[in-house]
Amino acid sequence: MVNARLKGSRSGNISTSSANASTAVEREPFRRAITLTAVRDAIVSCDRCARLRTYCAEVARVKRRAFRDEIYWGKPVPGFGDPQARMVLVGLAPAAHGANRTGRVFTGDGPNGSGDFLMAALHRAGFANIPTARHPDDGLQLRDAFIAAAVRCAPPDNRPTPEEFEACLPYLEAEWTLVPRVAIVITLGKLAWDATWRVLAGRGQGVRPRPVFGHGARVQAPDGGPLVLGAFHPSQQNTFTGRLTPEMLARVFHDARAALG
Ligand code: SF4
Repeated sequence: MVNARLKGSRSGNISTSSANASTAVEREPFRRAITLTAVRDAIVSCDRCARLRTYCAEVARVKRRAFRDEIYWGKPVPGFGDPQARMVLVGLAPAAHGANRTGRVFTGDGPNGSGDFLMAALHRAGFANIPTARHPDDGLQLRDAFIAAAVRCAPPDNRPTPEEFEACLPYLEAEWTLVPRVAIVITLGKLAWDATWRVLAGRGQGVRPRPVFGHGARVQAPDGGPLVLGAFHPSQQNTFTGRLTPEMLARVFHDARAALG
């Protein structure tokens, strides 16, 4: 049984704001029981991917003009949400001036950004207490939902390399393991879908051949695994072009809610 002693906000949501950079756990894949807090600390202090660490630090140093008076987070970004969640969302990676600035996943992307688009849908389905994600101190609380990512450092052009996906996968696996009630995983985009099925394969719950990704894809992982739902990523590229509409994302969370009962 995992030691679930957790350090988080008053809501019980785990966030980055109280994380310190000490590395209390080994940096190998987490094969033994540890705490979610220890995993978070290991993520925040990770420097496995030199290219990504250099890029994030440079973005944090140069900054975007609109945020020039802010101190960027500039470090890897851990998961956020309810440690007793039955639903885990898997995103791709932090945005350079979003989560890499604020230190919280899908936070600070702006009024028309992916964070607000996602949070509006989560709020409508009852998984979030507010419909926006602007700042780590905005009071956002997730209920029955935890948001993780395939890669924890912002990548140039939003394109991590295969090696970077590989290096970061143990963190997704570790957080997932330490959110022990997970019954549904919603993958935001194909790359998150692929990372999710790699984690499941490592747990003996994979499917061969790997199921095909699509918005609305729905696959029950075998051997006690979760129900995996596919959704297009709420990137501006998708939301501005109408490839992903609020109604489409709402339908996915409606399905998740119905499946959770
Ligand atoms: S992407 Fe993941 S493995 Fe690579 S440096 Fe960032 S946290 Fe570490």
